[in-house]
Amino acid sequence: MRYLILSDIHSNLEALGACLEAAEGKYDRVLCLGDLVGYGPDPNAVTERTRQVAETVIRGNHDKACAGITDAEDFNTLARVSTFWTRDELSVEHSTFLRGLPAGPVLMDGIQLVHGSPADEDEYIVGPGQAVPALRAATVQVVFFGHTHHQGGFMLTPKGVFQSIRDAVIQPERGKSEEDNQAVVLPLEDGARYLINPGSVGQPRDGDWRAAFAIFDDATREVHYYRTPYNLFATQEKMERAGLPEPLVLRLTVGR
Ligand code: ZN
Repeated sequence: MRYLILSDIHSNLEALGACLEAAEGKYDRVLCLGDLVGYGPDPNAVTERTRQVAETVIRGNHDKACAGITDAEDFNTLARVSTFWTRDELSVEHSTFLRGLPAGPVLMDGIQLVHGSPADEDEYIVGPGQAVPALRAATVQVVFFGHTHHQGGFMLTPKGVFQSIRDAVIQPERGKSEEDNQAVVLPLEDGARYLINPGSVGQPRDGDWRAAFAIFDDATREVHYYRTPYNLFATQEKMERAGLPEPLVLRLTVGR
């Protein structure tokens, strides 16, 4: 089975469309690690598209806030503004869907799906401080997580040595504006444990503006990391028209 793993779409319909197009024919099932909405201009269309294509969806912190489960008090000003805008914009049907999403971890065919970390759906796994305890506690070989919007992840080798996968995935020499649908391939080693972040579809923060996703093939035991360009200007224009905060519009250009 080949799984297309999507995370942190953040109401960016153009980026979601580009990922689905780039992944076409390469996957059997779609899994989504949460944050369908928040920040971007198309919460309804993105929720609808995700509901159409994804087999399993778990909730992210922005889904909770935009659906009214949490009050967005711990969000910064920009995130809070976009949360209130999204709440007004969301249809009752899609808001109800988001409110009903399960919290991670969800176990799916032997792989674990979480938004933040296995211990806490809102925790950011940014380095060994959070990754090592999560890897040691893992009951499965592969955990997929999102939330940080950084493509890559972390691993423990069969000998228990901690490694960042990010360095292997982030290759600055790869053209950042040209069409580049070549995947970076990570073959999984027997006895090693992995925390895999597919990156953010709709608001990358790892310095590469292109939409990110990953495909996991459980037969070949490989993770393929992808980046794909999308119509950035269309998304930004919609955000301007919606009156969403300028810094949120601009950050998409730089992928931060
Ligand atoms: Zn997010």
